[in-house]
Amino acid sequence: MLSGMRVLHVHAHYDDFEFVAAGTFELWRRKLGKKFHGRIVVCTDGRSGHQFRTRNETAEMRRAEQERSAELGHYEFRQLLDPAGQPFGEARTLTTDLLAALWHAIREFEPDYLFCPPLPSDPLAGVHPDHITVAEAVRRVAYMINVPHAFLDEYPTNDETKSRWVRTPVILNTYDGYMAGANAFDLAVDVEEAFDLIAEESWCHQSQINEWLPWVARHQIEPTADLAAWKEKLRERFGRQARELGLPPNRAHEVFTVTAWGLVPTYRQLERDLPALVPEAARRQRLEARLTRSAG
Ligand SMILES: [Zn+2]
Repeated sequence: MLSGMRVLHVHAHYDDFEFVAAGTFELWRRKLGKKFHGRIVVCTDGRSGHQFRTRNETAEMRRAEQERSAELGHYEFRQLLDPAGQPFGEARTLTTDLLAALWHAIREFEPDYLFCPPLPSDPLAGVHPDHITVAEAVRRVAYMINVPHAFLDEYPTNDETKSRWVRTPVILNTYDGYMAGANAFDLAVDVEEAFDLIAEESWCHQSQINEWLPWVARHQIEPTADLAAWKEKLRERFGRQARELGLPPNRAHEVFTVTAWGLVPTYRQLERDLPALVPEAARRQRLEARLTRSAG
């Protein structure tokens, strides 16, 4: 049995982690020290989405940016590889290879908690196709985490009579900026203490925040001069999220929704495990009632 607290973050792109869960990972690490094992898995190779760099150059640059962020945040970074050992160029559509690769990556790390993007419950919500594909893939693969031969064609074994039991994690959905206005949450983590690190980690992703995003947004996003200016932008971003979610605007928060895709936790378990959870009676009551129903 693996020890400590193992937390896996699965998302589509380089830089997604920094904007939804980096603060929570950092607070968890500060709380548990060496007992905290944080890993992020990025499901695409990042080669799409740059207006003046070649695909190979973009993929290499983004990988290096994520590696630098991982050094700052003391978490492990893995690129998701398909069963043939190659990264996925995109995650627009759900494929058996994507399901198999996720199944393999989750079983390999055996997390206690798994974070991934949400699926919108509102059909009017806007979405990023890669984000909902990853969300749907995690949802579909969740039950199969402990089905040893689920992807035997993709990951053959020498001995089908011997299987390793793997615990199923609690699966939490993150906030998603592409679904602005349609985000719900059960848990709010006050990540203000980690704000500077979130800024430094996200600042690593220069090819995105200072090159691609200003271009794709036309004149709505201006390039940022330095880290100090980036912190101001990030502060505004957290402020916008706080207004959308009805949270105090003066501190940075990350929010999560508890799914019943994997193990259904009790509220006490979440309260014990997660760092810096903001207590709120009505939210807690709603969540406890839902977890009780989900646990059956
Ligand atoms: Zn993304």
